Amino acid sequence: MITFNGVTKRYADGTVAVDNLSLEVPTGEITVFVGPSGCGKTTSLRMINRMIDASEGQILLDGVDVKTIDPPTLRRGIGYVIQQAGLFPHRKIVDNVATVPVLLGWDKKKARDRAMELLERVGLDLKMADRYPFQLSGGQQQRVGVARALAADPPVLLMDEPFSAVDPIVRTSLQEELLRLQAELNKTIVFVTHDIDEAVKLGDRVAVLRVGGHLAQLDDPATLLAR
Ligand code: ADP
Ligand code: ADP
Repeated sequence: MITFNGVTKRYADGTVAVDNLSLEVPTGEITVFVGPSGCGKTTSLRMINRMIDASEGQILLDGVDVKTIDPPTLRRGIGYVIQQAGLFPHRKIVDNVATVPVLLGWDKKKARDRAMELLERVGLDLKMADRYPFQLSGGQQQRVGVARALAADPPVLLMDEPFSAVDPIVRTSLQEELLRLQAELNKTIVFVTHDIDEAVKLGDRVAVLRVGGHLAQLDDPATLLAR
């Protein structure tokens, strides 16, 4: 479980991006942070894996303040997927996915087998495995981004607008693939989007943020839609 406990982020220029945010992200569920551009979604996400640190309050990972965990150790347990997949341009697709396991000391062959298995599970045509990122469509790159984030089997997955840059048909397919995967894997997922339809479709719970970094509402999708 991830717990935000009165978390505030004030940037150096005084901007308050997240304001006294308290909420829980239950283990094994998808919690979606939704709201307009600038409401503090990305800031909230980046405080979990300590790309930035909170100014006030705590973020607890299974009860442990993330500030007491050194970032490399913390990130070993946290997969991260961003909007433009962010693949290593000079590595083949299979090696993009195998990189983290190899860094963690896995045998190369085992890491490669794991990468191929994951690429298949995210629905990538395996003919793409020996290509380079620039040879794949945006949608295919996002599939690889998801596979790469899952490679070391982290319990937590942070997803920052992962499907926003692909066209609507591909987006729907990626959303469905994520729900299928999650039904098997039961990761603790924080998913950031500005799209309320996507939030309702994917979230077990949806946190609605407002500009200024306030939490406006936190509900399951059915309750959210009924309001
Ligand atoms: P979202 O992901 O919801 O679009 P962000 O977390 O990126 O929102 O940004 C929240 C607020 O913090 C915005 O007003 C943004 O301009 C501001 N902000 C983000 N990063 C910085 C930074 N490094 N320095 C100052 N202000 C920032
Ligand atoms: P999508 O609908 O997923 O966005 P695209 O229309 O971008 O797909 O691409 C369709 C097909 O063309 C994909 O199978 C992709 O692998 C291939 N493709 C796209 N760009 C390149 C490229 N630069 N080199 C080789 N194949 C490419």
